[in-house]
Amino acid sequence: MQITRINRRWGAVNVPKLGRVRFRWTKDLPGLTKGGPAGRITGARLVKDAHGWSIAFRTVLLVSAPVPHAGPKVGMDRGIAVPLALSTGEHLRHGPWLSGGQRERLLRLERKSARQRAARGKGDPVSNRERRTYDQIARLRATAKRRAVDWQQQRTTDLARRFSAIVVEDLNIPAMMASASGTVQEPGRGVAQKWGLNRSIAGQAWGRTVELLTYKAADRGGLVARVDPCGTSQECHRCHTTTKGSRERQSRFACKDPACGWIGNADTNAARNLLHRYNSAAAWAVTGRGDSAMAGPVKRQASCPTVSPAPALRAAA
Ligand SMILES: [Zn+2]
Repeated sequence: MQITRINRRWGAVNVPKLGRVRFRWTKDLPGLTKGGPAGRITGARLVKDAHGWSIAFRTVLLVSAPVPHAGPKVGMDRGIAVPLALSTGEHLRHGPWLSGGQRERLLRLERKSARQRAARGKGDPVSNRERRTYDQIARLRATAKRRAVDWQQQRTTDLARRFSAIVVEDLNIPAMMASASGTVQEPGRGVAQKWGLNRSIAGQAWGRTVELLTYKAADRGGLVARVDPCGTSQECHRCHTTTKGSRERQSRFACKDPACGWIGNADTNAARNLLHRYNSAAAWAVTGRGDSAMAGPVKRQASCPTVSPAPALRAAA
């Protein structure tokens, strides 16, 4: 590939069919950056978004196996009221990805492109004006996505540093999107927001968060565990009573058991349930059978199977 450094900020690389291409040198590259990581570059990929091209180098790094993470475990729930809720009670929030002015501009551009599309006759070519509108829309969307990814990168790095195990719900994205739209009998809540401006970002966000966490945790000797989330929003984390409809308002959980009566944030409650499931599953796996002390959690697992504390593994040469 013949990567060379031109100066502190710029490098150059030979790209097949394109020739010599300059790129902004934003990361330490093994074997090329003085004092950079030990390893080598095995490939490269050109990536395009609406802001332009970027090049991503594939590297193999020589790293020593991390020592087991000594930090506490944490449960993390994709909240209804907040983006990410931790069992510690913390809520990880972010602002809107676009400023008020940018959102207005995006709306205006979307209306404009609809007008331009409607005005175009059947079979007419797309005008340069219409194409320019699409480009402007794509750039705003790309800005929003970059900000979302940046937020995720920062949050996941912080989580992987602090916690030895991050317990998340075992959900696949199609199921999540299906629950967003709901059914005819019971339409989902917040459907308009979920399918609106940020739908592509929201759709990718959870999968990417777990993916980032998985390798960042593995790098630091931690792991990401997935547990079955079924019923975690209806169960009280303190007394483990499950009451249909105990999630009174979206953000508030009120335990229906008069002996317990815990009232608090619904997302925090769900995150604590995830952590509890992981802890009971781990304890159960160690004892090998459900003895009387573990009867509660074991019974719940029977109705909510698939508890898989899978250690996160990442190929590191
Ligand atoms: Zn309770």
